[in-house]
Amino acid sequence: MKLPTIESIDFTRKNVFLRLDLNVPMHQGVISDDTRIQAALPTIRWIRERAGHIVIASHLGRPKGQVVPELSLEPVAARLAELLDCEINLVSDYVEEPCEGLLKQLGQNQIVLLENLRFHPQETAGGIEFARALAQGMDVYVNDAFGAIHRAHTSISEVPTLTPEKAAGFLVEREVRGLSGLIDDPAMPFTAIVGGAKVSDKIGIILSLLDHCNNLIIGGAMAYTFLAYQKLSVGKSRVEVEHLDMVRSILNTAHTRKVNIHLPSDHICAKEFNETATPIVCDTIPDDAMGLDIGPETLKNYKKLIERSGRVLWNGPMGVFEWEQFSKGTMGVADAVAQCHGRTVVGGGDSVAAVYKAGLAKHMTHVSTGGGASLEFIEGKELPGLTALQD
Ligand code: AMP
Repeated sequence: MKLPTIESIDFTRKNVFLRLDLNVPMHQGVISDDTRIQAALPTIRWIRERAGHIVIASHLGRPKGQVVPELSLEPVAARLAELLDCEINLVSDYVEEPCEGLLKQLGQNQIVLLENLRFHPQETAGGIEFARALAQGMDVYVNDAFGAIHRAHTSISEVPTLTPEKAAGFLVEREVRGLSGLIDDPAMPFTAIVGGAKVSDKIGIILSLLDHCNNLIIGGAMAYTFLAYQKLSVGKSRVEVEHLDMVRSILNTAHTRKVNIHLPSDHICAKEFNETATPIVCDTIPDDAMGLDIGPETLKNYKKLIERSGRVLWNGPMGVFEWEQFSKGTMGVADAVAQCHGRTVVGGGDSVAAVYKAGLAKHMTHVSTGGGASLEFIEGKELPGLTALQD
């Protein structure tokens, strides 16, 4: 995929509309993790050193088209000002009075940040008037909001159609390179590891991975829906009884495409769903227990497969990794992916968190921050934000 990048743009004296993903977690008005702000800094700095003025726009949470004071970008503006050592003008009314006028009076050390885009219903519902207000007076549109690039929202898909130039920021460029590198790489075997809570959440990505991979390793609660389909005992494990048909369709597709499916052969169970519950290692899950992690034998087999793979994609934990006693499977898989000499990509909130927790991120070829966007990219779906940059 060929995208125009910010390195190919002459920004001299131009006004830039920069769409970022500054959707940071907040607790009582305080930012609890500023990773997304920090991640945006290289692109902001690159443009700031070259352009006339920058207007930054982002969403925060789901205010559903209403002004929700707790979802104001005010704390984000303060943090940005601190990190960039400049003045951030947080502008609330940019629809009636587009910020083109404001830019004329803006000093060198000032940046405009538009208040939460989702305070306006037109951001998610679409609206050319809203898009025009955002684009008015802008020479270049830059998208560095990979986490929102799969949304057909006005600031993602319509604004770029209205500016003379457009480009991808460093984060978007890195994600596209990292994810398409995995799909395009011919190295075999390609092992996909999918875990997490539900088969129904991951059915799309699993079916599309079956087009590419040689091995599909299943872990997490979703493994028990597979075992239940095979009429093996699952005790009180979390099973999606209403989605056994999805398992059938995955197994049939895997059979047709000659993909090997790997399921846990032993488990770490507990009698209650509780952090302090006593872990029990077993091959067959007792009726009064539930599987909360893959067992040691399964981990050993999974590790062997992963370490010998030419390519690995990992999405979703192998168990309730938030609880120390049931985290060994997930941490062991993180370790095996790090040991693999092939191309390794980790995507999806929980597996990414596990990789960081284990201090192994630097051993992965690519750690995707995109969540839903990375999965849709790998599934081969058209992502509105990327399409808009290519037009
Ligand atoms: P997902 O968002 O679908 O990737 O699911 C992640 C969540 O699944 C995490 O919060 C895990 O604690 C949970 N999970 C993983 N394995 C199990 C399991 N065996 N039983 C219950 N929950 C699980």
